[in-house]
Amino acid sequence: MSADAQKKRLIAANPKAAGLEAGIASQDRIVWVGASLVVVPLGREINDAKVLTGRQRPLTEVALLVVEIASAEGYRGLGFSYTLRVGGPAMLAYARDLAEGLVGEDPNDIARLWDKLAWWSASLGRAGLAVQTIAAFDTALWDLKARRAGLPLAKLLGAQRDSVRCYNSSGGYLSSDIAEMKERASASLERGIGGIKLKVGQPDPMIDLQRIEALRDHLGADVPMMIDANQQWDRTTALRFGRIVEPLNLVWIEEPLDAHDFEGHAALAAELATPIATGEMLSSVDEHVKLIQAGGADFIQADAPRVGGITPFLKICTLAELSRVDLAPHMVMEIHLHLAAAYASEPWVEHFEWLEPVFNERLEIRGGRMIVPDRPGLGLTLSEAAASWTRETAEFGRRP
Ligand SMILES: [Mg+2]
Repeated sequence: MSADAQKKRLIAANPKAAGLEAGIASQDRIVWVGASLVVVPLGREINDAKVLTGRQRPLTEVALLVVEIASAEGYRGLGFSYTLRVGGPAMLAYARDLAEGLVGEDPNDIARLWDKLAWWSASLGRAGLAVQTIAAFDTALWDLKARRAGLPLAKLLGAQRDSVRCYNSSGGYLSSDIAEMKERASASLERGIGGIKLKVGQPDPMIDLQRIEALRDHLGADVPMMIDANQQWDRTTALRFGRIVEPLNLVWIEEPLDAHDFEGHAALAAELATPIATGEMLSSVDEHVKLIQAGGADFIQADAPRVGGITPFLKICTLAELSRVDLAPHMVMEIHLHLAAAYASEPWVEHFEWLEPVFNERLEIRGGRMIVPDRPGLGLTLSEAAASWTRETAEFGRRP
């Protein structure tokens, strides 16, 4: 059958799919969707302040929902979403309910398909697990589109830069004592990473202060440093602590308060010279709109997998840019490097090596910056390790 005839047949088979019709401009069709639960071990227990205050158990693994999409014209897309501690199997179960909604659709119509999956999910709401599952599909569609264009995703989105400042987070957890923290910070800088973030928010803030001062002494005055309280302070502690650390010239204080206390964050941002960073725990565009409009973030820390993928992330970026807010996306450097490269003002990306073994490729880091890869799409392929960590898979349509 000719390509044209095949296209006509596919369109005839599924002319109307979402209440919104795919128009005559449609060019291609999704023929296969694969979804899998990949559980990545971290090798050691990780503690932040939420563990020390007894609210969460230590982190030992990251659960990924990995989605692959194939089209009739032979293009492939790879996307993923993630969850920490709980919910991985639920994400895959939910992906099973959504995947069939994509088979037969034009993979180019990403905005329409996001809306379609969100409408299918309406009774679960437009935040949390529902959109975090959609995120894996949405990211795979963007990857596919960029691969079709033969462009890195950053370039498809309209890049502002070919590299982004990066800082390391994984060395500054509370599970590391001061000596190990210093050692890991030095190793990060030697690797070419440009800044170091330290976890704080322990029950005794004076222990946090000792750690910050020890690291500042170790690194010297010029290395960019951030601190992250993981929502464990009350308003009074956050203001007092923020005033004490003003002379340390921190790049930002992250999540000083409960993630949903937008007014509290806004009051701190107004009171302190040190910028306030927050937003990683929000899982919808609407929550980010409220945070930005409250003036609660100098740096917005949107997380594409958590807010529903690249499509909603870009909406948040538009509002953030128009509100003169800086960007420092949370975790998942493999996706966020591309999105940060397309942001208006100079952003930061967060360096975590946790997901590196899932992929065959490594991101290049030099001179304090992470380099946008020149490979099409996200520039990622799944490794053999990812296959060995795959707990369960599901597929829909006809595998090409
Ligand atoms: Mg954080």
